Amino acid sequence: MNLVLMGLPGAGKGTQAEQIVEKYGVPHISTGDMFRAAMKEGTELGLKAKSFMDKGELVPDEVTIGIVRERLSKEDCEQGFLLDGFPRTVPQAEALETLLEELNKKIDYVININVDKSILMERLTGRRICKDCGSTYHLVFNPPAKEGVCDRCCGELYQRADDNAETVQNRLDVNIKQQEPLLTFYEAKGYLRTIDGQQDIEKVFADIEELLRVIR
Ligand code: AMP
Repeated sequence: MNLVLMGLPGAGKGTQAEQIVEKYGVPHISTGDMFRAAMKEGTELGLKAKSFMDKGELVPDEVTIGIVRERLSKEDCEQGFLLDGFPRTVPQAEALETLLEELNKKIDYVININVDKSILMERLTGRRICKDCGSTYHLVFNPPAKEGVCDRCCGELYQRADDNAETVQNRLDVNIKQQEPLLTFYEAKGYLRTIDGQQDIEKVFADIEELLRVIR
């Protein structure tokens, strides 16, 4: 079961990745997580990645492809893998094709969790966080009992600076622009499967299970 998971910020990719990994036992390979871990450990890779990540830029393809190559060659990927956050560019997607060919593997599906931009805006800008205990709420989907007040500790709720409408809009636009050529690439290869991410979390996962039934 060789999978690539795609979805814009707020689409629920993290939640679905967790459930896929739990049910099917495939390793979750997130390049973002790998870079963050390397940064924490202070390795050479971490130092290299940090300068780009701090600026919100993509880490150069050759570095990123290198760590994915190393990771996919490990034994735990023999029965499958779930790639998350990679590929992010067409050269990365092309490199992945070559790499998988070398390893005698092939992508089964690229799962795109699709949510309209207006709904992503609502999801991302509605987040509120407790100043005291860090609990998170959502104005529409998970509101506190009393407006502006944390249910758990009565702390004051606030909106993170990067959750404001303008920043969120920017982040989404950048991601949409980045994702488009990849969707075209995978559509042409016949790997792309689009899942409706505007349904309940359980229904989104049920649709993914339905899709994966064929390759199990
Ligand atoms: P993420 O956690 O997936 O949002 O990734 C956090 C950061 O890690 C990104 O903003 C990039 O700087 C870097 N990164 C993660 N995956 C990739 C990738 N496939 N290509 C280039 N940079 C990446």
